[in-house]
Amino acid sequence: MDAVTTARRMMVEAVWKRQGLRNEELQAVMETVPRHLFVDSALAAKAYQDISLPIAAEQTISQPSMVAIMTNALAPRKGDKILEIGTGSGYQTAILAHYTPRLYTVERIAALSKRAQGLLEQLGFRNIIYKTGDGSLGWESWAPYDRIIVTAGAPVVPDKLKLQLAEGGRLLIPTGGRESQNLLCVDRVAGGFREDDLGECRFVPLLGKEGWEK
Ligand code: SAM
Repeated sequence: MDAVTTARRMMVEAVWKRQGLRNEELQAVMETVPRHLFVDSALAAKAYQDISLPIAAEQTISQPSMVAIMTNALAPRKGDKILEIGTGSGYQTAILAHYTPRLYTVERIAALSKRAQGLLEQLGFRNIIYKTGDGSLGWESWAPYDRIIVTAGAPVVPDKLKLQLAEGGRLLIPTGGRESQNLLCVDRVAGGFREDDLGECRFVPLLGKEGWEK
């Protein structure tokens, strides 16, 4: 096994131990995704530390433990229709793409979406549909979704996203202040929605009509 693969496996194992995760399928998926390619080459040596890192346009690639916690809580099932808001580097996108024949991902910054698309295509992903735009409004034309994941922090849960959930669907979204938030899990249940607070987190702001102002 080469040094990069070993470093990646060790990081994922450490995250699983620290977080007490039991999701072997997700562990195997995260062990395959080459995070060092999703950051600038100058930061590649730090890619297998469990930290968030800067990417272009003053945005960040999420911390691997947060990606693991969110994906585990999202609990995607094979074949689910998934919407991701905040493509960023495309790292979380690559992980979600293992679960679904069609993954929809929205990013407001065109240059990030373009870079992520180029890399993900190079890595062989053919099941991802990309959009540049305001994801705080969701992506109405493909709704409803079984799973929606938002990787930027909103002041409140956008109604538009809730309404784009299928019956029995689940939305994960950091909600609260501009600097720090709580991770909310919103389930669409018969006749309404149920919300669970999964604890504190820190994300860059979700900027848009149903998010924060610039
Ligand atoms: N999951 C990403 C990754 O693994 O690299 C990290 C995403 S980063 C923490 C949050 C992203 O959300 C940024 O790229 C930011 O531009 C994007 N974003 C913020 N507001 C948005 C909006 N209204 N619609 C779509 N993307 C948005």
